[in-house]
Amino acid sequence: NSAQSYLTAPLSRRASIAVDVGGVIVGGGAPVVVQSMTNTDTADIDATVAQVAALNRAGSEIVRITVDRPESAAAVPRIRERLDRLGIDVPLVGDFHYIGHTLLADHPDCAAALAKYRINPGNVGFKDKRDRQFTQIIEQAIRYDKPVRIGVNWGSLDQELLTRLMDENQAKGSPMTAREVTREAIIQSALLSAELAEEIGLPRNRIILSAKVSQVQDLIAVNLELALRTNHALHLGLTEAGMGSKGIVASSAAMGIVLQQGVGDTIRISLTPEPNGDRTREVIVAQELLQTMGFRQFLPVVAACPGCGRTTSTVFQELAQTIEGDLRRNMPVWRDRYPGVENLQVAVMGCIVNGPGESKHADIGISLPGTGESPAAPVFIDGKKAKTLRGPNIAQDFQALVADYIEQ
Ligand code: SF4
Repeated sequence: NSAQSYLTAPLSRRASIAVDVGGVIVGGGAPVVVQSMTNTDTADIDATVAQVAALNRAGSEIVRITVDRPESAAAVPRIRERLDRLGIDVPLVGDFHYIGHTLLADHPDCAAALAKYRINPGNVGFKDKRDRQFTQIIEQAIRYDKPVRIGVNWGSLDQELLTRLMDENQAKGSPMTAREVTREAIIQSALLSAELAEEIGLPRNRIILSAKVSQVQDLIAVNLELALRTNHALHLGLTEAGMGSKGIVASSAAMGIVLQQGVGDTIRISLTPEPNGDRTREVIVAQELLQTMGFRQFLPVVAACPGCGRTTSTVFQELAQTIEGDLRRNMPVWRDRYPGVENLQVAVMGCIVNGPGESKHADIGISLPGTGESPAAPVFIDGKKAKTLRGPNIAQDFQALVADYIEQ
């Protein structure tokens, strides 16, 4: 539309059906939900409770746990009880593959304790067994009034469906590439499974769909297309995204583009943990993605310049890190004590070139002296110069000013 300017274009969200996952609303215009998954053996109750608690403390609003065998199914109600005793009410999702139908049937306490069941339609069984076993899981969801996520995964795609679509494409003279047919099979697997679940009697507002792939362009294509064909709530995730910065960049690029189109009701960032790595990193990255795009506000923003030849010391980077660490550590308490603290903007700048300007845009900002500048650091509060800090304790003095500002 030539009359529409990018400067004034509103961000709009796709209309999807809201699903209640243990009190957390996914879809229907609700804020995009951050979720994560444990990597403990669910049968190890202590380890799983500790990791669910850590993920929830970091900001995960839903946590998924593997339910792969009778021992883990038996552990689920005990994990739920322990979390409840700790005052942690985060909804738990059971991740089922292959034998989910028998685990749910044999462990009614597990079926009741979970807030949602994740079903992978690619591995509920083959041929005649597939529909029967899928039906059994859906019947448990109806019995316990639980939502399900029908989670299609590129790596475990329904091979019968894929083969049929490949044959049909061949019969038509192969207008689509193998990759395009695979994308179509992922979408159809999700939609046909959702249709079957509804035929069995699961209401539409108990179904979330996901289509996970490992390539950025596939994730964008599949999810935007899926959003055109259904109004089910969508869970986004790039699977096997990779380690370290590669996984973060790939997930952010893919999901950022889909979210920008208004598509996606809940996200999980899947990062391969470094050995002994911190599992909560995936939650922090998900929050940062939603926050940097302006969809949600979880934590105050600390803006810091990148530094350059005008600042040869590392004082300003260290101060920015310290302030951000203080804010993150104190947020669980400050969020209740000082409502709105998550909207705070702090600037920590390295020299006079952009320091005063950027600091004036923040709620509170400091412009540290660059190389050759006089050793004084003006502090700006609510857009006005409020103080000049000098001497060896500039960092601690600014930390105290930020804490004062929050309290006031
Ligand atoms: Fe360099 Fe100063 Fe800009 Fe920071 S504010 S990047 S120190 S010129």
